Amino acid sequence: MKKEVKIAIVGAGVSGLIAAQVLEFRGYSPSIYEASDRAGGRVKTDVVNGYQLDHGFQVLLDAYPVARNYLDYTALDLTKFLPGATLFKNGRQVTLGDPLRNLSLLLPTLSSGIGTFGDKWKIFKLNRELKNKAIESIFRETEISTLDYLKVKGFSDEIIKDFFQPFFSGIFLEPNLDTSSRMFQFVYKMFGTGSAVLPKAGIEAIPKQLVSKLSKTNFVYNTKIESCTDGKLIFKDGSKVLVDYTIIATEASHLVPNLRNQEQPWKSCETLYFTTKTKIIKKPLIGLITDTDALINNIFYHSSLPMVNSGEENLLSITVVKSHQMSEEELVKAVRAELASLCSINDITFLKRYHIKRALPELSNIQYDMAPSETRLTSKTFLAGDQLLNGSLNAAMLSGERAANAVIEAINESIVS
Ligand SMILES: Cc1cc2nc3c(=O)[nH]c(=O)nc-3n(C[C@H](O)[C@H](O)[C@H](O)COP(=O)(O)OP(=O)(O)OC[C@H]3O[C@@H](n4cnc5c(N)ncnc54)[C@H](O)[C@@H]3O)c2cc1C
Repeated sequence: MKKEVKIAIVGAGVSGLIAAQVLEFRGYSPSIYEASDRAGGRVKTDVVNGYQLDHGFQVLLDAYPVARNYLDYTALDLTKFLPGATLFKNGRQVTLGDPLRNLSLLLPTLSSGIGTFGDKWKIFKLNRELKNKAIESIFRETEISTLDYLKVKGFSDEIIKDFFQPFFSGIFLEPNLDTSSRMFQFVYKMFGTGSAVLPKAGIEAIPKQLVSKLSKTNFVYNTKIESCTDGKLIFKDGSKVLVDYTIIATEASHLVPNLRNQEQPWKSCETLYFTTKTKIIKKPLIGLITDTDALINNIFYHSSLPMVNSGEENLLSITVVKSHQMSEEELVKAVRAELASLCSINDITFLKRYHIKRALPELSNIQYDMAPSETRLTSKTFLAGDQLLNGSLNAAMLSGERAANAVIEAINESIVS
C-alpha cells in the first residue's frame, strides 16, 4: 500500500537525496524530478585533463551531526586538511594553526607574528567555549554580524583582518563578515571538534554515495518542473503528473504561484583552477590573502591532498568572493598578477574557471533545525533545501530529513482520519 502513495521530490541535490532515503527507509518509493542530467545539485566534480575539479572550493566538516548519520565516512575515503592556514602578508608567508591538534603547527604559530598573545589565548578560549556550547544554544542567541561578534569577543583588529576575515569570507562567500554570528559559532565549533575533509574522488563522491543507497527511488533527469500546485506537477511542455505529495527540494519561489514574490537572494563566488610545477604550501593548508584590496580570497593546492585524479602537475585553486565586472580573460590576468605579487607564484597554466552564481543562500535569522510541520507549505506540498536553515551540507541533509518525516506524518494523518 505504501508503494501506491505517489511522492514526488523536485531536485536531486543533497536535500532531495536525503528526503528520498528517509522515505525509502519507511517503505515508500518516491520519484525525483531533476532539471539537470545528474544528481548532486551544487555538489559537483568534473575531471578535466586528468585533474578533478570541484565546482567551487567546498569541504565537508566531519563533525556535522547530520552528515555523520547519513554518510559512510570510511567508504568516502576522506582526506583531511590541517587545522590552520597559511597567511600571505606583506610579501611574507606565515602559518597559523591549532597546535593542540597538530603539533607541527606549534612553532610556526608561535613565531607567526600574527595577532597578539591575547588573540591566541582568546582563540583557545573560544575553541573551549564553543566545544562545550550546545548547537541549540548557539542558534537561540540573538544574531549579530560575525564581525561585531569578533569585536565583542575582544579580538584585535589585526587578527580579524589577517585571519578571521579572509578565512571566514571564503566560507561565507562574502567579504565583510556580515554573516550571522550563529553561523560563525556553528562553523567554528565544527572546525574545533572535527576536521575539514574531502573525499579522495572529489566532493561529488558525497551525492554519489547517497544515490548508491537508493534502490526504490525513480530518478527522472533532464526534467524541469515549471510549477507545483497542490497534488500536481507541471512540466515545461505543459504536460502534468498527479501526485499525492510533493517535496520541493530547491528554492520554491519560481515553482509555487503564491511564493513568486519571495525570491531567495544568493551569494556567488568564482573558482579558478591552475596547474603548476611548483608548490609553495607543502602541507594541506589553505592559503589566505590578507590584503583587503586583493581580489583573491584564498588559494589551495589540491595536490597537497591525495586525489583519485591527480593529473601530472600540482593543481591550484583560487577563490574569488568579491564581485567585479571583468571578463574571464581580464580576471585570469588580474589573478595571475596578484599571485605573482602577493604569493610569488609565477609558473602557472590556467585550466578552468567556475562562476557559481547561486552558491550559498543569503539568509537572515538562520536556523539549525526545524520541526517537520514547518516544512509544510500546503496540505500536499513540503519544502526542503539548505536555504530553509543555513547554507551548509548539514542543513541540506537535515531539511530533507524533516520534509520526508512531515510527508510521512501527513500520510499517517490521512489514514487515521
Ligand atoms: C561554491 C560552494 C561552496 C560551498 N562550500 C560548502 C562547504 O564548504 N561546506 C558545506 O557544508 N557546504 C558548502 N556549500 C553548500 C552546499 O553545497 C549546499 O548547502 C548543498 O549542496 C545544498 O543542497 P540542496 O539540496 O539544498 O540544494 P541544491 O544542491 O541546489 O539542489 C537543488 C537541485 O534542484 C534542482 N532543481 C532546481 N529547480 C528545479 C526544477 N524546477 N525542476 C527540477 N529540478 C530543479 C537543481 O538542478 C539541483 O540539482 C557550498 C556550495 C557552493 C556552491
